[in-house]
Amino acid sequence: MVELINCVVPEHPEEYHDVFVYLEHKNGKLTRGSLEMLGKAEELAHKLNEKAVGVAVGKNLKEIAAEAESYGCDVFLGAEVTDFSGFSSVAYTEFITSFVEQYKPNIFLISGSREGRDLVSRIAIRTRTGVAADCIELDVDVPNRLLIAWRPSFGDKTIDQILCKRHRPQMITSRPGSYKMPEKVEGHKCEVTIKKVKMAKYAGEHKTLEFKQKDRLDLTSAKIIVSGGLGLGNASGFKLVKDLADSLGGQVGASRPVVDLGWIPYEHQVGQTGQTVRPKLYIAAGISGKIQHIVGMKASETIVSINTDPEAPIVKFSDYFINADVSKALPKLTEEIRKVRAGTPASSPG
Ligand SMILES: Cc1cc2nc3c(=O)[nH]c(=O)nc-3n(C[C@H](O)[C@H](O)[C@H](O)COP(=O)(O)OP(=O)(O)OC[C@H]3O[C@@H](n4cnc5c(N)ncnc54)[C@H](O)[C@@H]3O)c2cc1C
Repeated sequence: MVELINCVVPEHPEEYHDVFVYLEHKNGKLTRGSLEMLGKAEELAHKLNEKAVGVAVGKNLKEIAAEAESYGCDVFLGAEVTDFSGFSSVAYTEFITSFVEQYKPNIFLISGSREGRDLVSRIAIRTRTGVAADCIELDVDVPNRLLIAWRPSFGDKTIDQILCKRHRPQMITSRPGSYKMPEKVEGHKCEVTIKKVKMAKYAGEHKTLEFKQKDRLDLTSAKIIVSGGLGLGNASGFKLVKDLADSLGGQVGASRPVVDLGWIPYEHQVGQTGQTVRPKLYIAAGISGKIQHIVGMKASETIVSINTDPEAPIVKFSDYFINADVSKALPKLTEEIRKVRAGTPASSPG
């Protein structure tokens, strides 16, 4: 049985206020996921007439606080680590939980990164609350100061609405790429408090010596993505997808079954168990548009689908639909785009 320590079961939920957001940072910069969550925290705090409070642990937190301030963070609470340099979930949980207990936030948003996932359950256990994981949209019921979170469930067949009525803070995670990046806010002032902490006492033998970013395709920041699905017929179909992506200066995406079949590596997978993307242009070639794929790309600005089946679900989500065989449509599109590009002066971005 889990022993719950330092439990905070709120008898008076009205004592809990403001929207916390965990500010994960790497190499002196806020991660994309935490910036997206900061943007959401500000949006929800604004509706509630409360503050967006960024919480960070690590080194050089003044720079992190300045970056958070430039994106509109109202309050920054930092635990500046004076001994080790890396991440320790045990120690970080301790520091963040102490901020939660002291400050009593009503809502707490954490990006669903590896680090965020590690922390969120520990903090929730310590503060005796629940977590709605992998949420795809958030809003607030203002009169009741309740967070409304939507997440896919039951094998992603339904989108559920989750409320946490009895416990505080109301905690959620969302995967990086789920929301728009916030805009910078000119002249915004943030109230900064940074306390000094030591990890050694909590982290035990744990020591991160170096953080190395794995070379992995990041589709979340791609402006153009051409994705292929089972309709390509076989692995060599991806040559046509890559040709079109290259002609557009874009990246290659994929549905899950073609990854499972080994036609293309996992880092290209878009969807619920792949990456969540929001490019300016998303071309879905031979992809049916099952909900698990749609949740990962529906925020794209313009969606073009190529499919032999006009009844395929993806059509409903598309701005443009090409009712054609991918083996004919993809080379034709590539050819036309190359022609247009060839006619464009080299100095123009096209
Ligand atoms: C827990 C869970 C998580 C999942 N996570 C993901 C995920 O992250 N990403 C994801 O993509 N899926 C995911 N899936 C799988 C998902 O349910 C679908 O099975 C998958 O998205 C379907 O892939 P598809 O569109 O490539 O294949 P299909 O559904 O088989 O669709 C193929 C499409 O190609 C069209 N087609 C066939 N031949 C041609 C042709 N010659 N030219 C043009 N069109 C053609 C067909 O009309 C059809 O619409 C998940 C499933 C589960 C249960």
